[in-house]
Amino acid sequence: MKDFGLDIWGDDNFIIKDGQILLNYANQPSLLEITKEIRTKGYKGPILLRFPHLIKKQIDTLFATFQEARESFAYQGSFYAVFPLKVNQFPNFVDSLMEVSKPYNYGLEAGSKAELIIAMSQTPIGAPITVNGFKDKEMIALCFITAKMGHFITVTIEGLGELETIIEVAKEFNSTQESFVAPQIGMRIRLHSSGVGAWAKSGGYSSKFGLTSTELLEGYDLLSNNGLLEHFSMIHFHIGSQMSEISALKKALREAGNIYADLKNRGASSLRAINIGGGLAVEYAQHSYAVERNYSLKEFANDVIFLMQEIAKSKGVPQPDIFTESGRYIAASHSVLIAPVLELFSQEYHQKSLRLKEQNPPLVQELYDLFNSLSHTNAHEYLHDALDHLESLFTLFDLGYIDLEDKSNTEILVNLIIKKAIVLLKDEDSKELKRLQNRIQEKYLVNFSVFQSLPDFWGLSQNFPIMPLDRLDIKPNRPASIWDITCDSDGAIEFNPKLPLYLHDIDVTQEEYFLGFFLTGAYQEVLGMKHNLFTHPTEVVVSFDKEGNRELKNIIEAQNLLDILDDLDYNTNKIDKQLKFTIESSNVLTHEGKIDILGKLYLYLSENSYLKTIQATKESL
Ligand SMILES: *Cc1c(COP(=O)(O)O)cnc(C)c1O
Repeated sequence: MKDFGLDIWGDDNFIIKDGQILLNYANQPSLLEITKEIRTKGYKGPILLRFPHLIKKQIDTLFATFQEARESFAYQGSFYAVFPLKVNQFPNFVDSLMEVSKPYNYGLEAGSKAELIIAMSQTPIGAPITVNGFKDKEMIALCFITAKMGHFITVTIEGLGELETIIEVAKEFNSTQESFVAPQIGMRIRLHSSGVGAWAKSGGYSSKFGLTSTELLEGYDLLSNNGLLEHFSMIHFHIGSQMSEISALKKALREAGNIYADLKNRGASSLRAINIGGGLAVEYAQHSYAVERNYSLKEFANDVIFLMQEIAKSKGVPQPDIFTESGRYIAASHSVLIAPVLELFSQEYHQKSLRLKEQNPPLVQELYDLFNSLSHTNAHEYLHDALDHLESLFTLFDLGYIDLEDKSNTEILVNLIIKKAIVLLKDEDSKELKRLQNRIQEKYLVNFSVFQSLPDFWGLSQNFPIMPLDRLDIKPNRPASIWDITCDSDGAIEFNPKLPLYLHDIDVTQEEYFLGFFLTGAYQEVLGMKHNLFTHPTEVVVSFDKEGNRELKNIIEAQNLLDILDDLDYNTNKIDKQLKFTIESSNVLTHEGKIDILGKLYLYLSENSYLKTIQATKESL
């Protein structure tokens, strides 16, 4: 894995120079430099950096690629895109998104009432809004309000019941003399083909969403009988997120295209669009043998345009407009989580920690000799001997024949032997060595929460690229497990011999070491859980002016302790009073002591819950 796989997942967004990872943009600041600047402002703990220029890049690329595909096929339909809010609803993201997408008539997709309110208020008039997911009467009424405001809104029906509600609401909203206004109506189809990959549940016959062929025909009749046919404009499908193989899209396109053409020929005169949902995958892999998608955006766009044109031509219908709702593709790359390493946990395995005695148990003495005489030629043999002795010595300890010091010496010596053997045999690529690396892995305690910041790693085993921000000119040689600071053993990214991650050997009492977690901009933020009450990390928007100077904007610090409790609906006034009362009524503390303790307590209450430092002597991390 050269350069932590940057050439696989990095998309030229970053480069490595002089041992550091730099933003490949403007005057190419290093991520470490940006991190340090934020930390000197007093923000410690994990930091989420947002880069609006990377949102712009994705949107520019999406529109340019579909434009090229349309031109090369002389495609007659238009192209529209909306951002599905469920992927990231945070205001620092959405504001940047709306700002950078101004040239494109880009819109928003909503799947709930709250998301619809964001869409209603943030989408420019004329840009598309699409609404998916299950809806009650109130939500449908909100869609009518949106339409009456003058928005270009399309409501996608997930079931016939919703259509009946639309018919009812349409009557209520159009009882006056004003001209008839209703949202555009789309029908989501239940694909008989299903997607591929971890998120494939959105497609296929057993999918949670969409109408069967029979329901589509009934829906068509309902619309027709209730005078709403001229509002029926869209066929929608969504294969599921992170589509790994393009074949899934092609199958869905053929199915949707033929449904479009048949309904068109049946008399759906206003039907003019196919909404292909999301699913465009992001490459998260750090190892070339583990890539997650087998197609490019260009292939994706060409397939959409070509197949829709082919079906339209063969069935004699107009070429449909294309809507896309890609979310992951737009948002994933824009943010990087940066977290300080607090401690390395195998440092006790140093030769200096040995407590050898005048007279050691024979097997311990033998381990010591093996360690000293280990060489390239005897490495395999001595290694096996050492592992054998380890088992025997552990048994001797359990039976009470050796003491704690002997056990400690055993662990240190075997660890040192394995490390030395791995170095001696570094040109060998054997299974045994890989297994051994697992044994001597270093545990990096990192100031972040997997549950809060990488929930898809925890819940779905989705890997995210991880790399240190500096020392990139030094080959890392420590097989690394990453531990977060939650009190939960699942809060870890264990060393995976199939997708190994190596980090540097560092002494965090002497030097800082930061890890970057990349491609975290899609889904991770709002899915993040407050396990152990670690909340959304401090976030910063990093943008650049025309001269390429960077600006750190909209800093939002991670919530302070009392706000976190307030969010759980604790009565924080009561907590505050209780704490004060207990201190003030103490009969151990002096008056000065009480003032001192109260001052310290209030300082801590105003800070966030991430760790500051765990090394007594070290300046805070
Ligand atoms: C989630 C979702 C999307 C976004 O999918 P991505 O894979 O993130 O592009 C688009 N449309 C619908 C209906 C969705 O539910």
